[in-house]
This record gives sequence, C-alpha cells and structure tokens, in this order.
Amino acid sequence: MLARVQKYYPGDGYKLVEKAYLFAQEAHKNQYRKSGEPYFTHPCFVASILVELSLDPPTIAAGLLHDTVEDCEGITLDTIRQEFGEEVAMLVDGVTKLNKLDFADKEEAQAESLRKMILAMGKDIRVVLIKLADRLHNMRTLHFLQKPEKRARIAKETLDIYAPLAERIGMQEVKSELEEIAFAELHKDAHDSIVARLNFLREQGSNIVPKIIAQLEKDMAENGIKATVSGREKTPYSIWRKMQQKNASFEQLSDIMAFRIIVDDVATCYQALGIVHTKYHMVPRRFKDYISTPKPNGYQSIHTGVIGPENTRIEIQIRRLIIGIIYDDCVKCI
Ligand code: MN
Repeated sequence: MLARVQKYYPGDGYKLVEKAYLFAQEAHKNQYRKSGEPYFTHPCFVASILVELSLDPPTIAAGLLHDTVEDCEGITLDTIRQEFGEEVAMLVDGVTKLNKLDFADKEEAQAESLRKMILAMGKDIRVVLIKLADRLHNMRTLHFLQKPEKRARIAKETLDIYAPLAERIGMQEVKSELEEIAFAELHKDAHDSIVARLNFLREQGSNIVPKIIAQLEKDMAENGIKATVSGREKTPYSIWRKMQQKNASFEQLSDIMAFRIIVDDVATCYQALGIVHTKYHMVPRRFKDYISTPKPNGYQSIHTGVIGPENTRIEIQIRRLIIGIIYDDCVKCI
C-alpha cells in the first residue's frame, strides 16, 4: 500500500499513511469482525480501495482510522487531531457522523440520510468516497451477518442510497458491485434464476461478444470511422430492473448484451449511428439521443437497440471520447 501511494504521490505523504496504519492496527487489536477475521482487515480494505482511486494521503489515513473514534475506547476526535492534524480529523469526523445515519429504518430517515450525504459531499467529497469504500467492504462481508432482517436492511439502504450515490459521482464499478450484492440478498430467487439463465445463454452463444465486437469494428473501419468498440453482458440487477419496469419476462428481454462505440467527436457519433441503422434493423422504441438532450447529470450518449451481427438483439451506445473523466452510465434508461 505504501509503495503504491509513493508511486502516485511522491514526497513524504506516505509517512502519514504509515503512521495511520500502525495506529489503527494497535487501536483495533483484540477486535474481530463477524467473519472471525481481525477487525483491522476492514479499515485496511477500505484504505486499499481509496489507494486504487489514487486519493491523497490524508484520505487514505482517514480510511484507515475511520472506525477508531466510534469503536475504540480511549480514542477521541481530539486524539486523531493531535496525532494526525486537522484535515484527517475532519475527514474521520465526517465519516463517523455519516455512520450514525446507518441506523435509519424509516423512509423519512432514509430521505434524511440522503440529504445529509449530499451535504457532506458538498463540504468535502472525500468523506463520501471513504463512506462508499466502507460500505463496499461491508457489503462484500454481508453474508457473515446472522440476522436476515439486518442483512435486508443494509442491502435495501445500499440500493436506496449508496448505489445511486456511487453512480452520481462516476464510480460505476462500485455502483454495480453494490447493486449485485444487494440484489442477491433481497431477491435471491430472482437473482439466482437470472444468473442461471445468463449462464445458459453464455454456453449457447459460445463467446458471441468478441464476434459482435469484431463485426462492429469492421463496419466502422469500412466506412472510414476511427472507433473503439467494447462490449459486455448486462448485470443481473439491471436485467431484473428492466423486467420490473417493462413487466416483461426474461425471454422477452433478448438484448442482454450492450456494446459501446466510442469515437472522437459529436459529428462522428451521428455518422456511426447512420452506419449502424443502415446495416442493422432498429428495434422500435429503443432509441434515445442523450447527446441532443443530455441527462440531468450531464450524461451524453446515443442509445439504440438493433438486431445486430450474429442476428442477435443488442443494445449499442455511441458516444464521444472524454479524457480524464470517468464518464459512465447504466443501461436502465433505454
Ligand atoms: Mn467501517
């Protein structure tokens, strides 16, 4: 962890991280998670997510220390301030305050949590990043909790508050993982049957995604368009949500794969769209132009459903390359 921090954050910032690591290890000794692991594994995991996001040393340190004030006897916010300074203390305090919201169980209380979360975001978004990393690890270890009601409450709160928040700030992978774990917890039967069906289709289709990518790349190249094409299966949760919205069965939702065509500029987006619609039949009511009319969060992309290569119903998203921003979106909108 220290080596990675030093790599993207040269200087002696890593010393703060090292100090926080040793401090948290000592503070949490003799404490254990429900999984039976030493408690310290939890703040370590949270910090490692923050390292992956290349966040600054005070944020990593606060990730390591985030549960010390609440859970360790004799450690107060003043202790953290004296040892690590005002910035780290402010971050730890922010996360501790958000933790207190976890006990909300009424709808009103959830609206209130979301409101406080957004306020915290406005004050210092790093507090929310730490909180999301905290929630991700707690979701990954959710199955260790004994009481089904408690697991369900945490899963529901994750779907209602944390996943949308992760989406809003562009943490697409975190959002998807939070959703999938919560979905498996709350609707186990639906989750298992969708996963089984996806596995079945995957075996039948024998690696169809790379074939479709290759064909779309060829279509673009033949028309002189420089494009990057990628493809993936939709997630079980996004499939389920679409089934709910459209009141459709899994069989009716044949476009379980989504492809992305990324080009250099807006004009080329429309050229690429023209090529796709000329060559493949469009599926009615599956066209959305979020370039012409961006979504409120700024998302810009063209979505279309077609009977694509391999005679398969797919979704295609066409957008321009935006450097330096994680610019992503789920498939719920088409
Ligand atoms: Mn925690």
